[in-house]
Amino acid sequence: MRAWPPSSRSARATGRESKHMKIAFIGLGNMGGGMAANLVKAGHEVRAFDLSAEALARAKENGAQTFTAAGDTLDGVDAVVTMLPNGKIVDDLYTGDVIGKAPAGALLLDCSTIDVATARKVADAAEKAGYPMVDAPVSGGIAAANGGTLTFMVGGSDEAFARAEPILSAMGKAVIHAGGAGAGQAAKICNNLILGSTMIATCEAFNLAQKLGLDPQVFFDISSKASGQSWSMTSYCPLPGVGPQTPADNDYQGGFAAGLMLKDLKLALAAAQSAGADVPMGARAEELYDEFAKAGNAGLDFSAIIRTL
Ligand code: NAD
Repeated sequence: MRAWPPSSRSARATGRESKHMKIAFIGLGNMGGGMAANLVKAGHEVRAFDLSAEALARAKENGAQTFTAAGDTLDGVDAVVTMLPNGKIVDDLYTGDVIGKAPAGALLLDCSTIDVATARKVADAAEKAGYPMVDAPVSGGIAAANGGTLTFMVGGSDEAFARAEPILSAMGKAVIHAGGAGAGQAAKICNNLILGSTMIATCEAFNLAQKLGLDPQVFFDISSKASGQSWSMTSYCPLPGVGPQTPADNDYQGGFAAGLMLKDLKLALAAAQSAGADVPMGARAEELYDEFAKAGNAGLDFSAIIRTL
C-alpha cells in the first residue's frame, strides 16, 4: 500500500497549485476509480466508499483510505466528490447521507451524468443547508479518467465553481463553467445528442460510400477534410483500419459503451420534452441505440452501431 501522505514528487503538476485537501470520494467504478487515484496523485487525502468490495480494494491500492459506509468518509472533509450511475442514486445519497452530515460548508461535486432536474433539486437542497454544490459531468471515457485528461462541464455559482476548479483540474485537462446549477448536465446531454446523431450519420455514409464503390480510406481522406467531417469521423472513425486508432480497431471493445450513449440520449430526450424542444434526429438516434442495446450490444463501443447497417 502506498504511504500516506504521498511524497511531493508523486504529486501531479496540474499547472495550478491547489492546497492539500481532505476529500470524500463515493462511486469508484470504471470512471471514479481512476479519478480518485488522480486526486491522491495530486496530493489530496482521499476517503473512499463504494458498494463494491472490489472497487474499494482497487482504491486502497491506489492510495485512498477506504470506508464501509458513505457517512464514514465525511469526517473533516473539505469536499465530497461522487461518480455514480444515475440520478436516483445521486439524489438518495446526497439527501440521505451527505447533506446535513458533511462538515458545514463542505463543497459538493457530483460528476455523474444525471438528469438536469435532479441535479437542480439536489443542488438546491444542498445550498439551503449551507453546502455549495456543482454538477460537473465529464466528457472522455475510462482512459481519460485514468489519465487525468477528462473535460468537466460545470454548473453552479461563481463561488462554488472557484472552489471546485482546482479539485477538478487534478482529474482533467479542461474545466469549463457552463452556468448555474444543472448547466453542466445540460451541456453534457446536448453534446451527446450531437455525438449520437453524428456517429450514426457517419456510419451510414461509410456504408453507402462502400456500396457505391468508394475505397473507405479515400472517403475518409476526403470527408475528414470536407464539410462532412465531425469528431465521429476524424477522431473516432467507426470503421476498422481507417483513420486514427479507435475502438473499431479493437473489435469495438473499450471506448464509450453503447448502453451509456443510450442512457445519455434518453436523458436528452426527457430534457427536450420538459423544455418543449423538438429533437427529431436525437429521437431517431435514441430508437436505433435502444434496438442495438436490446440486441445484446450495450457493452460494445457505441461506434459498433455500424454493424447494424
Ligand atoms: P460504474 O458502474 O463502473 O461505476 C459506478 C460505481 O458506483 C460502481 O462501482 C457502483 O458500485 C457504485 N455505486 C452505485 N451505487 C452506489 C452507492 N449508493 N454508494 C456507493 N457506491 C455506489 O459506472 P462508470 O462507467 O464509472 O460511470 C459513472 C458515471 O459516469 C455515470 O453517471 C456515467 O454515465 C458517467 N460517464 C461514464 C463514462 C464511461 O465511459 N464509462 C463516460 C462519461 C460519463
